[in-house]
Amino acid sequence: MKKEYDAVIVGGGPGGSSTALFLKKNGVDKVLLIDKAKFPRDKICGDAFSGKSVGIAKELGIAQDFEKVPHEGVYGVLFSSPKGTMVEIPFPGAEGKKNAKPGFCVRRINGDNVLFQNARKAVDTLEEFTITDLLWENGFVAGFEKKGRGPKKFLDIILAYEKDRGAIDGLKFISTPSRRIYKKHQLIRPVRQGFGMAVVSTSQGIMTDKEVRKKKIGGQVLFEIW
Ligand SMILES: Cc1cc2nc3c(=O)[nH]c(=O)nc-3n(C[C@H](O)[C@H](O)[C@H](O)COP(=O)(O)OP(=O)(O)OC[C@H]3O[C@@H](n4cnc5c(N)ncnc54)[C@H](O)[C@@H]3O)c2cc1C
Repeated sequence: MKKEYDAVIVGGGPGGSSTALFLKKNGVDKVLLIDKAKFPRDKICGDAFSGKSVGIAKELGIAQDFEKVPHEGVYGVLFSSPKGTMVEIPFPGAEGKKNAKPGFCVRRINGDNVLFQNARKAVDTLEEFTITDLLWENGFVAGFEKKGRGPKKFLDIILAYEKDRGAIDGLKFISTPSRRIYKKHQLIRPVRQGFGMAVVSTSQGIMTDKEVRKKKIGGQVLFEIW
């Protein structure tokens, strides 16, 4: 079954997962949350979950779920100099109340997972998916459907429409598996007077023709779309 979405969020970290939850809470029903990783996934971080963040978790009704994963309560922030001078700044509301722990420390592998699993209950999610960012960012697609498993996994892309007219008029493959076309940036011209775009594989990732001219790097021209 194909599905279309009002909002597709790429990245299921704290930013993406809480956006998904807030959208759902505010009546946006068709939300898809995509992440290239599989949750739980770890990230480098100081792992502090401030009083402000706890407030947001309370607003979303999921603060109690953080209590269920390993964590330490945090009273405030302590700055110290090499000479040992220390300044202690309690979180707002915790002043003079050492037992009050409005914030806490929770490893991202646990904390981000609490957020993502709550988002998963509320909206559609796709893990282990790096989306075709450029098509999305440039307004050519309106939704995605995950199909297949393992190496045969693929995305069925739902094309964007504006007033019954498709956002895509045409697509031309420039490179093929047997004939790869590489061009210098000066030779990668705007497509259809700038109304279309070329998609180029460069040493710095996949980019549009506009980006390669701006960054002055060439690459393999994959296809043109307009
Ligand atoms: C060293 C360090 C210490 C820090 N300490 C703290 C701290 O103590 N307290 C604090 O509050 N903040 C801290 N931060 C900041 C905090 O880590 C970030 O603010 C927070 O992670 C941002 O969340 P996010 O959801 O925007 O991004 P992320 O948590 O980075 O999530 C982005 C997600 O997007 C996914 N993704 C990326 N590209 C794609 C793609 N193309 N397709 C699909 N998915 C994709 C990734 O897999 C990832 O899951 C620290 C940051 C660093 C670097």
